[in-house]
Amino acid sequence: MTLPPPQRDFTKHDELSDVNIVVEGTILYVHRQYLAEWSGVWRKLFITDCPDDLTSSIEIVLEDKNLDDVIELLQCIYSTQKPISETNVTFLLEFADEFDMPSMRSRCETFLCAQDACIDSLILAEKHDLKQLYKQCVDFAKTRTMEDLERDPLCKCLSERTLIKIYKEKVNMMRDYAQDLKNAETKLERRNGQLTDEKDGMIEMFKNISKIWDMPNKRCYKHMTEVTFDFTCRDCNEKIQREVRRMCHDAQHVRRFFKMNNK
Ligand SMILES: [Zn+2]
Repeated sequence: MTLPPPQRDFTKHDELSDVNIVVEGTILYVHRQYLAEWSGVWRKLFITDCPDDLTSSIEIVLEDKNLDDVIELLQCIYSTQKPISETNVTFLLEFADEFDMPSMRSRCETFLCAQDACIDSLILAEKHDLKQLYKQCVDFAKTRTMEDLERDPLCKCLSERTLIKIYKEKVNMMRDYAQDLKNAETKLERRNGQLTDEKDGMIEMFKNISKIWDMPNKRCYKHMTEVTFDFTCRDCNEKIQREVRRMCHDAQHVRRFFKMNNK
């Protein structure tokens, strides 16, 4: 097991720090280079809003933020990058939206896509417009029963648009399933027709076999004119045997039918 890299303590003053973020009365000493690399909002602040102020520290006061959340965000964007997890993904996405952080957004989406799809993730995907995750979660949601979806309190947090999308995908899935069943049925019907033909052929063959003892031309030349079959004649029996063997050989499909039915 490898230990995670030690995390930076942002509350400790650092000589190279050029931005002070103030959250809940605590000062976090950070570096504009990192912030600008990750956040479009902060980049704009440094470049456009105070272009000349490259040496002295800038103070950013985050009024409505939680200190722990902001520290976690910083730890996720600094070079010692903390991994995205179930605990931080929700508020990291909020930061990503508010401060225009496309790389953070994409890291969060990658993390969520690697988890099992669920309605929670679908809510996040919808809220933060994460397209790949959205698709993945709709594909999951459509496989759940209507009862499951209606009973799940989380589904009430989904927008009408997403619910309609799930139901629509569900209908499409059922339609494809119905089509598959129909194709399978057609195939079975065709097979059934074949087997019925084989069975009829077999019955026909047995009838023909039973008749050959009454057919004078199937006997040896000495007995061709006799009314009944002479079972004591070796030649007649041999001729009949050959004939039965030939008929059975011609009706190989009959044997196949037998095998299938006797299983
Ligand atoms: Zn004979």
